[in-house]
Amino acid sequence: MKIQEYQAREIFRNHGIPVPQDGVATSPDEAKRIAEDLGGTTVIKAQVLVGGRGKAGGVKLAKNANEAKDHAIAILGMDIKGLRVEKVLVAPAVDIEKEYYVGITLDRNKKQHVVIVSPEGGVDIEQVAEKTPEKVGKLWINPAYGLHQYELREVLFDIGFEPEVIPRAAAILDRLYKCVVANDCSLAEINPLVKTSDGKVLAIDAKINIEDNALFRHAALKELRESEDNDPIEKEAHHRGLTYVRLEGGNVGIIGNGAGLVMATMDEVKRVGKGIATPANFLDIGGGARAEVVKNALDVVLMDPNVKAVLINVFGGITRCDEVAKGLLEAIESIDLKVPLVIRLAGTNVEEGKALLVDSKELTAVDSLNEGATKITEWLS
Ligand code: GDP
Ligand code: MN
Repeated sequence: MKIQEYQAREIFRNHGIPVPQDGVATSPDEAKRIAEDLGGTTVIKAQVLVGGRGKAGGVKLAKNANEAKDHAIAILGMDIKGLRVEKVLVAPAVDIEKEYYVGITLDRNKKQHVVIVSPEGGVDIEQVAEKTPEKVGKLWINPAYGLHQYELREVLFDIGFEPEVIPRAAAILDRLYKCVVANDCSLAEINPLVKTSDGKVLAIDAKINIEDNALFRHAALKELRESEDNDPIEKEAHHRGLTYVRLEGGNVGIIGNGAGLVMATMDEVKRVGKGIATPANFLDIGGGARAEVVKNALDVVLMDPNVKAVLINVFGGITRCDEVAKGLLEAIESIDLKVPLVIRLAGTNVEEGKALLVDSKELTAVDSLNEGATKITEWLS
């Protein structure tokens, strides 16, 4: 799960990492008021869940509150890599002498966290890592041994951090690691960490990704996502505990059990559909899905007005086909179904499942995925 910069800044502050104060605005006037309160030069930053905001024109310096308002007018509503800017962060601008990169992420191969640092941070860090990997330092953390200052200082020194910056960058990394562990972050990144012209070392950007599978033990963090879902259907789906992703421009609702099977179903619809039938969403009901889950899944998929047909693809392993069939029949009873529904069942209790569906007028059962995708394409042609 990604969270916005302003949320990550707050978490960093709570862990003692020096981050300038800030305010968040959803309107130009609000941005102006925050800039007035802060006084002096401010920086106005688009709050969207992608990197590269600076290069996209989403980060601008304002000399006074009126300029802050003008920048907010330009940035709010801006499209950055397909995401609409709904909020801007307003913070006192800092006078940057040098930009560094520091971050901690999970190295899944080594099964350890890894600290990554570079004395050439800022908006071109990807290029630095690609073209001059010798300017990127790494330190793997053995969880039993922990992270030690002398090791951090050594890595920072070797990679070219200035002697006066090293102890402060090392202290910040120590806090960053505590933050990573406390919040189950899969990534925590400060780019740039800056040395200011008056000699301070500050984090002026903040990025945190939280491991989805650990969210059950972070009720407060989970709330952050729910407030950030832009798509109302995705929001409702996540609220109901479903793994659902809406796609632009599709017309066939897809429901399946298991991420791989759902993706294969989407591919097949796309292939057979020849532009007439295209997947409208990804929805994985998971293993062992019970009637209630199936009903919720159908509800959510049908909330999308673009959906003109639904293809359900279930392979009964842990999930029993009769359980899925029951869920569908229950769901159909309570919904005013306006689009055709095709279901392909295979696996555990398939005969029992099919027997339950045989009398249904709303449902068409098929034996193969290809047959299902072909039928839907014919109907939509
Ligand atoms: P990103 O492009 O999405 O990573 O956004 P950042 O927050 O990292 O901002 C991009 C760049 O804008 C930074 O690398 C800085 O060079 C510049 N920038 C951001 N905040 C300030 C600031 O307060 N003062 C100055 N002078 N530059 C800033
Ligand atoms: Mn950045």
